[in-house]
Amino acid sequence: MEPLEKLKLLGPPTCFEPAEEVVGSHRPPPRPGLGNDDLSGCVHNAVMPGGKRIALLKTLLTSACERDCRYCTFRQGRDFHRATFTPDELACLFMQLYQKGVAEGIFLSSGVAGGGPRTEDRLIATAELLRHRYGFRGYIHLKIMPGAEQEQVLAAMRLADRVSVNLEAPNAERLARLAPHKVFAEELLQRLRWIEEIRQGMPGRWPSSTTQFVVGAGDESDVELLTTTEFLHRQLGLARAYFSGFTPVPDTPLEDHPPTPLLREHRLYQSSFLLRDYGFTVEELPFDADGNLPLGSDPKLAWARCYLAHAPIEVNTAERRDLLRVPGIGPKRAEKLLRARRQGTLRDLSDLRKLGIIVRRAAPFILLDGRCPAYQLRLWPASP
Ligand code: SF4
Repeated sequence: MEPLEKLKLLGPPTCFEPAEEVVGSHRPPPRPGLGNDDLSGCVHNAVMPGGKRIALLKTLLTSACERDCRYCTFRQGRDFHRATFTPDELACLFMQLYQKGVAEGIFLSSGVAGGGPRTEDRLIATAELLRHRYGFRGYIHLKIMPGAEQEQVLAAMRLADRVSVNLEAPNAERLARLAPHKVFAEELLQRLRWIEEIRQGMPGRWPSSTTQFVVGAGDESDVELLTTTEFLHRQLGLARAYFSGFTPVPDTPLEDHPPTPLLREHRLYQSSFLLRDYGFTVEELPFDADGNLPLGSDPKLAWARCYLAHAPIEVNTAERRDLLRVPGIGPKRAEKLLRARRQGTLRDLSDLRKLGIIVRRAAPFILLDGRCPAYQLRLWPASP
């Protein structure tokens, strides 16, 4: 099979593996010989860490897999058309796409074929060809396979801008329901520990790390997912947790399991940002009796209604960490607010609006120079 035909088989399934901020398909103008219109499921507009947008090629090295994760389209024994790149084929194809301006960076994952270490060898070999044979200096995101060895983790980190280990579930018990032959602590979590140990122990510019959870397939609660997420951010330097709502796949053991609502993913992302960027702890999040976030309300707004509605924050004197508790004020706006109030007292919602603060969200929970903003009560019934 031609490499381009393989790519059309191996690229689109990576839509189930979130990586970076994909903001849509990338549709470059047609280039002779590449049939670019057919690569829309493989090349994506992605926002990199730091904000730059690039055309990111996302693909698997192989869709062959010897594992039997119960939710996965690639599990062993499932009948569908599989394909495999050699490292040479994929590196050469990527460079053609790069030179024609179709793709500027690559996200590379894989099924497990011949064991985690052998699969990791092939991922590393592909990245080495790109860096050393072709001199590619652009963005590479490499997956760390279950069971990859410590030296391989180090080698991958020397080649990549980002590495990721898919935990899939928040703990060993939940993982056992999803992936009976994956070992949570030894095969998966330990790789994230090694990544952080390398970053902390060896000077240098090291890649960021991410993970992915399959949400809903293991009947886990949000509090389980977010407790692990908080640990990963605080203890293992994780840049980002991705929450991928479960979608049943025909001819798998979970084909009759209900899909996860998109809104659950959204609430988990909102909450993980509160943990990572806003100084919240898991204990402060508004879980229900089953340990799940209410789908009907933004978690930060729900917290503010409980704790700030009767104790509004004076924006002229509050510390940064308290400003971040106010709905409508994020880390960047809080910095702007701190700078603006050094120039003089903020007295009106229009002063906040000029700073980009979402005043209809903030107004019920703040004081401006000792006074509630004029239309606070009118705004109170606003929807979440
Ligand atoms: S190891 Fe990965 S590709 Fe293989 S079945 Fe499990 S989730 Fe799917």
